[in-house]
Amino acid sequence: MSREYIQIQDFDLCQYNSFRIASNAKVVFFPYSTEGVRQLFLDLGDIKPVILGNGSNTIFSNDICTAPVIISSFLNKISFINNIISVGSGVSLSTLSWFALEKLRTGFEFLEDIPGSVGGALYMNAGTYNDCIGDKVHSALVYDYKARKILSIDKQQLSPFWGKRDSFFQHFPCFIISCQLEAYLTDSYEDILNRQLSIKQKRYLKQPRNYPSAGSVFKRPYVNGESYYVWKLIDEAGLRGYRIGDAQVSTKHPGFIVNVGNASGKNVVDLMNYCKKMIYQKYNIQLNEEWIIV
Ligand SMILES: Cc1cc2nc3c(=O)[nH]c(=O)nc-3n(C[C@H](O)[C@H](O)[C@H](O)COP(=O)(O)OP(=O)(O)OC[C@H]3O[C@@H](n4cnc5c(N)ncnc54)[C@H](O)[C@@H]3O)c2cc1C
Repeated sequence: MSREYIQIQDFDLCQYNSFRIASNAKVVFFPYSTEGVRQLFLDLGDIKPVILGNGSNTIFSNDICTAPVIISSFLNKISFINNIISVGSGVSLSTLSWFALEKLRTGFEFLEDIPGSVGGALYMNAGTYNDCIGDKVHSALVYDYKARKILSIDKQQLSPFWGKRDSFFQHFPCFIISCQLEAYLTDSYEDILNRQLSIKQKRYLKQPRNYPSAGSVFKRPYVNGESYYVWKLIDEAGLRGYRIGDAQVSTKHPGFIVNVGNASGKNVVDLMNYCKKMIYQKYNIQLNEEWIIV
């Protein structure tokens, strides 16, 4: 039986992570159907792969990635029926948001400017201050590593796990193939479009979009019931603009680390750890990263 996935040896991951870190994968796989996902995991057996969506929250810490990498970008179908958007895990959040606009569905505007895939967003429960993707999910189709089969996970199973950048998928490792999103609410084309563009404009004004990054580095810390702005702590510790190699604490928004040239994964991770150390020394606050370090 022919294989419904593409396999490439010796693959440059630079265009597959938003930090534009050069890291070479020994082998990458692109499944392009549910059957392809099933075949691929059966072929891999007990080998643990790295799963990648758009790589906008992932840092490759080494020049070489020895684990096989599975990239979801060809799981890219999207459709709308009976107030449900069915979407492959490799579809970008921007595509999803514009698709919802086309169908006059509101509630997806906040996703337009988050540069991830649907799979990565479900794993991270991506969102903004007010919204998160978990609130939209009706069910997800996954490959369960333990059971070695494809399963549908429904809303009741998923709901208890949605939290600030937390999800069911972080507790029960599986590969997300696709999901169904509730899209009941309607609005006018103009109002949805205005909201999408206004969210985007605010974010572009605030964030360092002229350099590659992987979004906010750290989760917001809560100490004795009090929450702290990470960018303020970093700024007040004198770290705005601090640099290791070509990795730099953003001068525009110190909650971001940016790649101002050819930062290596090691530069980025060293800078992240340096910030953690300085914040702990100065404020006795332990920062935890939002990023996934591979
Ligand atoms: C400029 C910028 C702004 C950002 N703004 C925001 C924001 O406002 N809000 C926010 O939440 N995030 C933000 N992010 C971070 C990031 O875009 C989100 O976390 C996004 O959801 C990550 O999706 P991804 O596909 O890029 O994930 P990846 O980085 O590819 O993967 C992230 C994690 O998800 C897992 N994963 C990916 N696909 C699958 C799959 N199919 N099955 C199982 N696991 C999978 C990976 O293994 C990894 O552990 C921003 C990033 C940047 C660069």
